[in-house]
Amino acid sequence: MPTETFEFQVEARQLLQMMIHSIYSNKDVFLRELISNASDALDKLRLEVLRDDGLKEDVSDLHIGIEVDKKERTLTVRDNGIGMSHAEVVQLIGTIANSGTAKFLKELKESRESREGQEAGTVSEELIGQFGVGFYASFMVADEVTLLTRRAGESTGTRWESSGEGTYTVESVDDAPQGTSVTLRLKPEDTEDQLFDYTSGWKIREIVKRYSDFITWPIRMAAESTVSADEESVDGTPREPETVNSMKALWARSRSEVTDEEYNELYKHISHDWTDPLETVRMQAEGTFEYQALLFIPSHAPQDLFMQGHKRGVQLYVKRVFIMDDCEALMPEYLRFVKGVVDAQDLSLNVSREILQQDRQIQLMHRRLVKKVLSTVKDMMSAHPDRYATFWREFGRVVKEGLLSDYENRDAILGVSSFATTQDTEKPTTLRAYVERMKEGQQHIFYMTGESRSAIESSPHMEAFKAKGFEVLLLTDPVDEVWVQSVPEFEGKQLQSIAKGEVDLDTDEEKKEVEAEREKRQQEYAGLLTWLTAQLSEQVKEVRLSSRLTVSPACIVGDTHDVTPALENMYRAMGQ
Ligand code: ADP
Ligand code: MG
Repeated sequence: MPTETFEFQVEARQLLQMMIHSIYSNKDVFLRELISNASDALDKLRLEVLRDDGLKEDVSDLHIGIEVDKKERTLTVRDNGIGMSHAEVVQLIGTIANSGTAKFLKELKESRESREGQEAGTVSEELIGQFGVGFYASFMVADEVTLLTRRAGESTGTRWESSGEGTYTVESVDDAPQGTSVTLRLKPEDTEDQLFDYTSGWKIREIVKRYSDFITWPIRMAAESTVSADEESVDGTPREPETVNSMKALWARSRSEVTDEEYNELYKHISHDWTDPLETVRMQAEGTFEYQALLFIPSHAPQDLFMQGHKRGVQLYVKRVFIMDDCEALMPEYLRFVKGVVDAQDLSLNVSREILQQDRQIQLMHRRLVKKVLSTVKDMMSAHPDRYATFWREFGRVVKEGLLSDYENRDAILGVSSFATTQDTEKPTTLRAYVERMKEGQQHIFYMTGESRSAIESSPHMEAFKAKGFEVLLLTDPVDEVWVQSVPEFEGKQLQSIAKGEVDLDTDEEKKEVEAEREKRQQEYAGLLTWLTAQLSEQVKEVRLSSRLTVSPACIVGDTHDVTPALENMYRAMGQ
C-alpha cells in the first residue's frame, strides 16, 4: 500500500500548534505520557491474552524500552503491548476524541487574549494542565515523530509520521515487531541546553524515576544510552539493559514510605490529568478479604462529567495485576469523579464485570469505599475549608445525585453538601450552619428552587421572608428540583419550600392577630374573591387573601403537593 497523507482534525491541529510553540514549560512530561501509553498497552495485551484463547502472542517478557541515539538525536520509547491497527492509528492519533477539546481551545484563546503580554504563559499552562494532551506532548520536544505499530493478532504493521504541521502520513509495513515504538527526532535547541538534553541517560533516568517509578512493567534502558559520552565502557563490551523503575505498587506501601509527589504522579497516570489531585485517600483492609485502595479526588471536574457514558475512575487490580478500568462495581455514579486503584487479594484474575456486581465481598468493599470518600470530604470541610470549597464547586452537583440513589448515606451526603443562601451572597452554607442560625421558634429549613439566584431573590415568594429576616436556601441546580422531593429533613428539621402551601412565619401571638385580621378582611372582600375565583377558574384553584406579600400585589402559590414551577419546566423540557 502506498503512503497516504492525511490532515489532522481541526482541534487536533490547533492543539499541536500549541505543543510545537510549547506554552508548557515542564517539557519533561512528554516522557511520562509516552510511558503511560505504553503501560496501558501492556495492560491491555495481558488482559486480551487472558480472555481470548485464540490470541497467540508471547507475553512472557512484557516491558517498556527506552533508547537514545546521541548522534541522530533521537529518543525511542518501545513497548510490546497491544499495538494499533491501521484504522486505530488514524482514528486515535489523528483526531481527539475528547469532546471538550473545542471548548478547551476556546477558553485557552480567550485567556491568552485577555492576558496579552502579562502572565499569558501561566494561564495557558494551567489550562493545558487540566486538559492533558497525551501523545501530542511529544511535539513539545520533537520536530518529527514516527510511530511504528502492529496490533496483536495482525500480521501487517503501520507507520505513522508527522512533523505536527497540519498533516501526517500513514503507510503499511510488513516487518513491524508486535507492539508500538515511538521515535522522536529531538528539536535541536534542546540538546544545547543541559536541562533539556533528552539524549542524556541520566536525564532520562531522572525523569522516569520522578514520574513513572510505580509503573508495574519494567522500564528498561538499552545499555549504551545509560552511558554518557565521557563514561563509555572501557572494554567496549555491551552492557545489559537496565531496569530503571522500582515497579513498587504505591498502594501496597505504607504511608511513610511514599511521598506526596509519588502519589500525585500515580494519580496523573491513572486519570490522564496533568494537575495534582485535591485529596488522596488510602485504605487497607486485612483479614478474610484483603485489599488496598488508593483513591484520589481530582482538583477539577473533567469536561465530560455530565455527558452520557462518562466512565467511573476506579481501576481494579488483583494481586498487583491490572484487571479493569472504570470498575463500576466499586464506585456509585454520584462519585464517578473519584479516581484510583483498588487491589484485591482474593479475586480470580479473570473475574468479569457481571460477577463483580453480584459478589458480596465487592459489595462490602463498595460500601466501605463510599463511606471513606464521604468521611474524607467531611474532614476536608473542617481541616481545609478552601479545598472543600473547590471540591464543592467542582463536584457538588454530582454529589447531590447521591441524595436520590444512596439512601444509606443520605445523612452523610447532606452533611457534606452546601447551598447558596440569602444570608451570604458569596459563600454557600452547610445545613448544619443554617440550623445553627435558625431564628427562635423557626421550625423549618426554608428553601426555594429556581433557575438562578437573581430569579429566586426577586420572586414575590421571597418578600415575607426577607421582611422578617428568615434565611432561605437558593437551590439552582437541576438536580435540586429532584432531591428536595425525596429528602424530608435534616437533623429533625423539615425542609420547606417557600413557594408551596401555607408557610408559617409567625409566633403564636402574631398568628392570632393576623388570623383575626384576615377573617375580617376575608369577609370584607368575600364578594371580590368569589368573583375572581370564578373568573380565573381556568388558571387557578382558588383566589385568597395573602399575608405573605409586602410589595407585589399578587402571587401564584402551589399546593403543598404540587410540583414547583421550575420542576414543571423541567418535566416540560423532558416532554412529559
Ligand atoms: P490517552 O492516553 O489519554 O487516551 P493519548 O493521546 O496519550 O491519550 O493516546 C491516545 C490513544 O492512542 C490512546 O488512548 C491509545 O488508544 C492509543 N495509543 C497511544 N499510545 C499507544 C501505545 N503505545 N500502544 C497502543 N496504543 C496507544
Ligand atoms: Mg495517554
